[in-house]
Amino acid sequence: MSSSRSTPAYELVRRGLGADRTLVGLPNGATFGGETLAICAGPCAVESAEQIDEVAARVALAGAGVLRGGAFKPRTSPYAFQGLGAEGLRLLRSAADRYGLAVVTEVLDPRDVELVAAHADLLQIGARNMQNFPLLRAVGEAGKPVLLKRGLCATVDEWLAAAEYLLVAGNPQVVLCERGVRSFDPATRNLLDLSVVPLLRERSHLPIIVDPSHGTGAAALVPAMALAAVAAGADGLLIEVHPDPASAASDGPQSLRPGEFAELTAALAPVAAAVGRRMPKLVSLPERIETALGFVPYQTNGTRLL
Ligand code: PEP
Ligand code: MN
Repeated sequence: MSSSRSTPAYELVRRGLGADRTLVGLPNGATFGGETLAICAGPCAVESAEQIDEVAARVALAGAGVLRGGAFKPRTSPYAFQGLGAEGLRLLRSAADRYGLAVVTEVLDPRDVELVAAHADLLQIGARNMQNFPLLRAVGEAGKPVLLKRGLCATVDEWLAAAEYLLVAGNPQVVLCERGVRSFDPATRNLLDLSVVPLLRERSHLPIIVDPSHGTGAAALVPAMALAAVAAGADGLLIEVHPDPASAASDGPQSLRPGEFAELTAALAPVAAAVGRRMPKLVSLPERIETALGFVPYQTNGTRLL
């Protein structure tokens, strides 16, 4: 993208000389862009009360601070599961509240911004909508933090210019999310571009997180790429987790089981420490988690988690 001297494409998202980085905080204390990593986890789509409740309990116990789950799904085929809509938002919010989690979910349509903003703490703009300019304007005016995914074929300049729409609309609370780009090679669903992590830290003050689930399309590849993303300097992760990936309505092949997600967060701790980052503190979980799980969770050293 060309930018003339008089009208730079992204003046507001550009990193100023010596300027601080933006810290995006959510109401439950999860932060993006600080020393502590932001861990977002949950199913591709909200499918049922039981499904989202089980995932919320399990990811909260494993250290996630933000529950993800699509209620409005951007599907390639109009015949594929489109999400539960408003009911999905309600289920997602109540599961998150039960376990002290914040909510990130996608908004597809400018007409739904108010509804989604009433349930979410972080509004996700999906890869397919990165350059949906009316949506960017509407979300920019919503007054809620935004997660802006990189478009399927978007250059870094196009991505930052899209973020500029949000800042220009008056919203400085923007988190960028690398989720892989189209490549010539079908061996993985997308090509996860981890080089943008250090690149964006140079170019912009906005926090950057990585989604290795859509970035690879394969659950077996997710843990290694999640560790690599944090080693590269990512401010957090977005990971798809499903209680039974084989029966998932969408993106089962790239979804971790809850136990695999817990193994991943355990493996992440030494990597985070090695690059000067902290793992999120386990939120103090309401007693209801004990009821939901049917047992009292203990750490391996014998301390009660609740
Ligand atoms: C998602 O997060 O479920 C999603 C649809 O992601 P993307 O927009 O990156 O494809
Ligand atoms: Mn998905």
